[in-house]
Amino acid sequence: MSALDAAGQRAETLVEALPYIRRFSGKTVVVKYGGNALAGTSDHDALALFAEDIVMMRLVGMRPVVVHGGGPQISALMSRLGKSTEFVDGLRVTDAETVGIARMVLKGQVNPQLVAAINVHGNYAVGVSGVDGGLIRAEMRDPRLGFVGDVTAINPGVVEGLLDDEFVPVIATIGSDATGQAFNINADTVAGRIAEALGAEKLVYLTDIEGLRSRVEDPGSLIRQTTAAHLDELVADGTIGGGMIPKVASCQHAVRNGVRRAHILDGRIAHVLLLELFTDDGIGTMVVADDDADDVDDTAHETTARARAPSDVASPDPTPS
Ligand code: ADP
Ligand code: MG
Repeated sequence: MSALDAAGQRAETLVEALPYIRRFSGKTVVVKYGGNALAGTSDHDALALFAEDIVMMRLVGMRPVVVHGGGPQISALMSRLGKSTEFVDGLRVTDAETVGIARMVLKGQVNPQLVAAINVHGNYAVGVSGVDGGLIRAEMRDPRLGFVGDVTAINPGVVEGLLDDEFVPVIATIGSDATGQAFNINADTVAGRIAEALGAEKLVYLTDIEGLRSRVEDPGSLIRQTTAAHLDELVADGTIGGGMIPKVASCQHAVRNGVRRAHILDGRIAHVLLLELFTDDGIGTMVVADDDADDVDDTAHETTARARAPSDVASPDPTPS
């Protein structure tokens, strides 16, 4: 390819992004960055690429909000402190000491790591925890789990203020109850609730798999687009398991409560956010509201590019696979 052809291709990529930039300008997009995406060996690179995507979104006029977890990092500090991690139904048992460790890791380590990575590019990101401005109000879920919280209310004022001032809020998912007791709260759940409270255009989960699979062991079974109702079936028949459960529940809740689209994307893919948002090739799994399945959009992305294998179509009578 000649240098001129290559330059032409780059120009085409930019032009392809134009309708999406126009459409998403001024729109709020909540991105949950998984603890697993932060862990691992290529840690640093993945974080830098993610930060570039967030800055790009902000610079083209979107209002990105980052919500992060930190499960692996909490487990790592627990083991360094010689404290073992106990799980009940996939949820970390969180005694008083553990919630202190979780708060320390999320707000003291993971959150400033993300903020710093974004702010390499300018003074954009501000880190907050759910305690700030009463952002995340919580209550104890189950005494057996200790200080694991369920969200009782989201007070998005602090986040809205930051967005209006053109900052990128980066949220650590510690919440507190009326007495000031801290709780560790599932970041997937918080991301969904914050997206709803902000009236976000999109809710995006970055995780460690290419999207939802209709057969969990089969990488070829990616579900490209689905509805909240179809997801009910996949949860009921056990197709959705483990860490996907809170993501899917949040996607369903969000699209049924005003968020236009929810996406589950592979955070291991370089610039996956830019690929999803600004190119015609949608990527990962997109969840739409039940009455929105046949929605025809003003851009090609969600119609042609989402053409998919018949097995992935949410049919009224799905055959169990
Ligand atoms: P994160 O750190 O992003 O929250 P999790 O490990 O909690 O990551 O959740 C993602 C995991 O959910 C996947 O790696 C996969 O093992 C599991 N999973 C369960 N059911 C499915 C499914 N139907 N499709 C895809 N992944 C699934
Ligand atoms: Mg998880």
